[in-house]
Amino acid sequence: MPMILKGFNDLSAFLETPKNVVIVGHRNPDGDAIGASLALKHYLTKKGHHATVVMPNDYPDFLQWLPGSENTFRFDWQNSQSQKAIQKSEIIFLLDFNTLHRVGSDMQNTLEKYQNDFVMIDHHQQPDDVKFMYSDVNVCSTSQMIYQYIEMNNDLSLIDKDIATCLYTGIMTDTGSFRFRSTTSKTHRIIADLIDKGAQNDRIHNNVYDSNSYNRLLLLGQALSNLQILPEYKTAFITLTDEEKKRFDFQKGDTEGVVNYALSLKGIIFAAIFIEDKEQSIVKISFRSKGTFSVNKFSRNHYNGGGHDNAAGGRSESTMQETVDNFCSLLKDYKTELEVSYEI
Ligand code: 5GP
Ligand code: MN
Repeated sequence: MPMILKGFNDLSAFLETPKNVVIVGHRNPDGDAIGASLALKHYLTKKGHHATVVMPNDYPDFLQWLPGSENTFRFDWQNSQSQKAIQKSEIIFLLDFNTLHRVGSDMQNTLEKYQNDFVMIDHHQQPDDVKFMYSDVNVCSTSQMIYQYIEMNNDLSLIDKDIATCLYTGIMTDTGSFRFRSTTSKTHRIIADLIDKGAQNDRIHNNVYDSNSYNRLLLLGQALSNLQILPEYKTAFITLTDEEKKRFDFQKGDTEGVVNYALSLKGIIFAAIFIEDKEQSIVKISFRSKGTFSVNKFSRNHYNGGGHDNAAGGRSESTMQETVDNFCSLLKDYKTELEVSYEI
């Protein structure tokens, strides 16, 4: 899919005078959504605008240290402040998601009534059509796209330590620390520039990856002991029940990255994690793959989800056991695709 850049000359003209801006990421924001949003906020502030980040809900502790995070609203529990910021705004940036339902139904209702224009900057497939768009599925992260947006505006000299730190974090988390196929030489050049501009790579890695609680490691231990391998389909999957989450005092973000352990097995090219969420009565699923097997398509077809070719998410409204049984029975239809997906 080619890059889409729509209306950005008009957008530049619109942003020539100071504006009230709101920046929104997807529900359960990850490092890329938060990093891109905070970086854009710092940049727009430097350009004379008043920018507010409104996230649909809270995010993990290991992202709360990011500069500017303390002034971010969570739409679900800071609803009146969030609504007020949205009402006052003259334009809304939608970052790191491709369709409005990704913000969750409450916030989606509010955004659907919004009278002014949206700008979407995102790297997911099949984006909705909004007035101002910069979409590129070939870029590893929305954070890299924010760097490129700043570059388009000839403003790279405005990138300071805070912006560099936020962008570095977003690129690092969405590329699995610069190891996925989406990581290009350009990504590395941008990362080098961000280090030159003040991003402290060792501190950022430490803050994000070496800040585990003891319970989080115990939960990981439980997840690994639940791992099941289906060698005939080069597939491995992990389950976590609500009871197991409670036993290890589950906190937001504790399961992030766990699915990658299934993918780290030799010979495995398709991995899934099924996480029971009794509060929402769903099983939340993450999929990862190597090579040509598209988990985006798989999740769209069977789990009401989507994402990227090699990393996607979805959900099931059945019980854990039914969900897992259904998943295993689906694999038969994908045996050939899975066999040829990735030469090891
Ligand atoms: P994760 O598995 O880490 O939650 O998400 C992997 C990728 O899939 C991310 O890019 C995320 O935005 C996307 N994703 C996760 N869950 C969903 C979902 O329910 N629907 C869609 N469309 N995308 C999802
Ligand atoms: Mn992203």
